[in-house]
Amino acid sequence: MIDFELSDAQRNIQQFLHWVAESEIRPVSLEADEAHEVPMTLLRKLKELGVTMDALPGPTSSASAGSGDGDRPVERQGNRIGVLAAEELAWGDAAVAISLPGAGLGGPPVQMMGTPEQKERFLGIFKDPEPRWGAYALTEPEAGSDVSGIRTTCRKDGDHWVLNGTKLFITNGARASWNVVFATVDPTLGRAGHRVFVVEKGTRGFQVGRILDKMGIRASETAELLFQDCRVPAENLLGGEERYAQREGFKAAMQTFDVTRPTVGAMAVGIGRAAFEYTRDRLRQELDLSRPIPRYGVLAERLTRMERELQAARLLVWQAASMADQRIPNTKEASMAKAYAGTVATRACADAVELLGAAGVRHDRWVEKWYRDIKVFDIFEGTGQVQRLVVARRLFEQLGLRV
Ligand SMILES: Cc1cc2nc3c(=O)[nH]c(=O)nc-3n(C[C@H](O)[C@H](O)[C@H](O)COP(=O)(O)OP(=O)(O)OC[C@H]3O[C@@H](n4cnc5c(N)ncnc54)[C@H](O)[C@@H]3O)c2cc1C
Repeated sequence: MIDFELSDAQRNIQQFLHWVAESEIRPVSLEADEAHEVPMTLLRKLKELGVTMDALPGPTSSASAGSGDGDRPVERQGNRIGVLAAEELAWGDAAVAISLPGAGLGGPPVQMMGTPEQKERFLGIFKDPEPRWGAYALTEPEAGSDVSGIRTTCRKDGDHWVLNGTKLFITNGARASWNVVFATVDPTLGRAGHRVFVVEKGTRGFQVGRILDKMGIRASETAELLFQDCRVPAENLLGGEERYAQREGFKAAMQTFDVTRPTVGAMAVGIGRAAFEYTRDRLRQELDLSRPIPRYGVLAERLTRMERELQAARLLVWQAASMADQRIPNTKEASMAKAYAGTVATRACADAVELLGAAGVRHDRWVEKWYRDIKVFDIFEGTGQVQRLVVARRLFEQLGLRV
């Protein structure tokens, strides 16, 4: 059963992260966007406060171990806490939220596929007091939505694997201590050929290429990674070779999305909520809404639509996250939540610009930034179209039909 009530402990975490977002993140947000960089002083401070990526994607979160919070002693809640955290931190600044130290998107595949030694070796580094990052390198110049089309190759050579290829758009890929890299033993095998490696910084043949400039979340690092005869020790193949008999490499890529798509949806809700609250408060200051004005109907309709759709998106996100916590298959719900949240939060940011008029496009104000930031939430970790395709496939499967 999905419970939409927050426990006292969950509410405390939410309130603490809102305070962090408001008092630590918002004050540097516009400047970080302008500089295309999140200040290291902020990331260190957040790490000291315990605000790391560990709080975001569910299964890597310490809260997912079923430690309980008094009123829910054995329930797993890492994903639920992860989406609460994601919404609050993205309300502060989405680029900062995805730049937080920690394993990030790289965490779930290590957690799901890694041997106990690999988990200790690769996830253990995040106990270090210094900020450290992990990253997830799947996308390539010619393979984005169509994951089965990756062209980065891997070939066994003695006690090493040799990787050749290019990865593109990798969040935190340059600063990461390690990248989870998807490669194929033979591109003609499609999904069956996939293998998943942890490639550590400094590995011979691995280089960071360009850092990409973007329309939104500009302070977040998005890197190109180059692999040229890159020799990766055999013990860095996640789970060992026997894991790959049943297309485990491809499955790992997809299962990662089941837990991270709700988090991305929650961040979209956070940005949309920021735009909604800012617009509501500005209009309240500037207009006397206690008496009818010519635009009253339009303002009321827009503001209530923004709030209504964001609340519906939040409930879809919580549902998908709670299912992940309860180990209930949630592929369809995770995609529904991400697709819906991306769509309505994009609409909310566009509404904010429209309702505020010229003030909505000023570069030194928040709304213009949120309008730019939100777009990518309907692109990364699967575009809106791809999410709708996933939902349609699941629906048709249930009906015994083929898409
Ligand atoms: C800021 C940023 C950060 C990112 N971070 C990471 C990261 O950390 N790791 C990583 O691996 N990747 C990352 N990505 C890559 C991201 O996941 C891909 O951009 C995304 O999957 C879409 O792939 P694509 O850009 O190649 O678009 P394409 O796949 O080329 O799609 C182009 C258009 O065609 C549509 N389309 C494609 N296939 C279909 C279909 N079957 N049916 C209907 N429509 C379709 C898409 O919806 C889209 O509108 C990041 C991207 C960005 C922009």
